[in-house]
Amino acid sequence: MGAAGRDSRYAQHDGEAPTWYEASARTHPTWPVLKDDLRTDVCVIGGGYTGLSCALHLAERGHRVVLLEARRVGNGASGRNGGQLGSGHRRDQPTLERELGGERARLLWLLAEEAKALVRDRIARHGIECDLKPGIAIAAHRPRHARALAHEAAHLNARYGYDRIEVLDRAALRTEVASEDFHGGLLDRGAGHLHPLDYARGLARAASEAGVDIHEGTPVTGLAPGAPCTVTAGPHTVTADAAVLACNGYLDALDPGFGHRVMPINNFILATEPLGEERARALIPNDVAVVDTRFVVNYFRLSADGRLLFGGGETASSRLPADPGPLVRRCMLRIFPQLADVSVDHVWGGTLAITRTRMPSIGRLAGGLYYGQGYSGHGVALATLGGALIAEAIAGTFERFDVFARLPQPPFPGGRFLRWPTLALALAYGALRDRL
Ligand SMILES: Cc1cc2nc3c(=O)[nH]c(=O)nc-3n(C[C@H](O)[C@H](O)[C@H](O)COP(=O)(O)OP(=O)(O)OC[C@H]3O[C@@H](n4cnc5c(N)ncnc54)[C@H](O)[C@@H]3O)c2cc1C
Repeated sequence: MGAAGRDSRYAQHDGEAPTWYEASARTHPTWPVLKDDLRTDVCVIGGGYTGLSCALHLAERGHRVVLLEARRVGNGASGRNGGQLGSGHRRDQPTLERELGGERARLLWLLAEEAKALVRDRIARHGIECDLKPGIAIAAHRPRHARALAHEAAHLNARYGYDRIEVLDRAALRTEVASEDFHGGLLDRGAGHLHPLDYARGLARAASEAGVDIHEGTPVTGLAPGAPCTVTAGPHTVTADAAVLACNGYLDALDPGFGHRVMPINNFILATEPLGEERARALIPNDVAVVDTRFVVNYFRLSADGRLLFGGGETASSRLPADPGPLVRRCMLRIFPQLADVSVDHVWGGTLAITRTRMPSIGRLAGGLYYGQGYSGHGVALATLGGALIAEAIAGTFERFDVFARLPQPPFPGGRFLRWPTLALALAYGALRDRL
């Protein structure tokens, strides 16, 4: 079903300097390129959280699983992201209640809570060392955002009994983040942050130990659904009863017909030089992760070795810009002008996928094909869960999978090609509103 063409974003990744995550990773495991034709129960395509979590759950249930990754495990968004393990969904609960009804919104909230618990459980169960720490501060960029966040916290408490979240006024937020840019916000102690690449590699190790047959450097070039499905990777084929597409923002030409439901977005992170303990702690004294309420969101936290890891700036394009460094540095200095003298050691980009509703796009197509994508910037928790729910469905239990699969998944206007200019305009408009 179509051949995966040469992807400019892969080429960008080939030439680039290592991300700070790669440079600081605890392990550097490798898995062999596929060199045989194989017959298996399930073939998973993509070695990010969705694919790894799905493969691991399936192997634990006794399925034979082959996982094919075009480049290296965690090379996509899963090894490049902000590491924030957020609560809930990208859509707030009152909106979900209004749009989907109270009962479905409640199920979605419970599943999002389970997603965070699942990440923590995997980390504990498999001994994954990935600097997991508690706390995300949500910083209001406008006074009205602070008021809206306070309402949201009260709602979560009253309706869902979620009491891990605290409202911070401007002064209290200032004790969490040394910036004059914010008007208060929330501290969510039930959320957290981690080293995303160490987490991805830990999942891969656990999957491999559970029996998953992982192949890196193996781009899938063709996919024929059916009973069985045939997955082609160069000269070799994997024949499987089911196939899982877990390529998210990197799906491209392999798209069997659901790619228009997501929009790939490029997002960027920098790692400063080590700041020294005193200066680092002065910025974020309690070592929480921070995310702000801008349309083009900024997110940041300290690394284990005392750098500021700062994410910001977005582009909608099929190519990553050659050097996103100045863009991200500008965003950082707007929030922390006191870092003007600090140099930047690493800058990198990654591609995530968003949906129009900002809710995940998870589902099943005819011929044994399953997919999970479009976590809209919330995939550390939700892609881990998405993979698990796809595994449940393949094993024959659809109840929880269907909570997501039955969500509306409207296509982006403009289809596969014209969605780019439409989104570029929307991003430009959003960025302008952030500045006004
Ligand atoms: C810069 C950035 C910051 C982010 N920050 C956060 C955050 O702080 N918190 C949060 O929750 N989420 C964040 N996200 C989003 C999160 O990283 C993603 O939602 C999540 O990693 C998605 O996982 P995935 O497995 O679905 O996709 P990916 O991790 O992108 O994995 C897809 C894999 O498929 C492989 N692939 C593609 N095509 C083929 C093919 N033809 N054959 C074989 N393999 C193929 C790719 O090489 C890739 O490894 C961020 C994303 C980015 C890019």
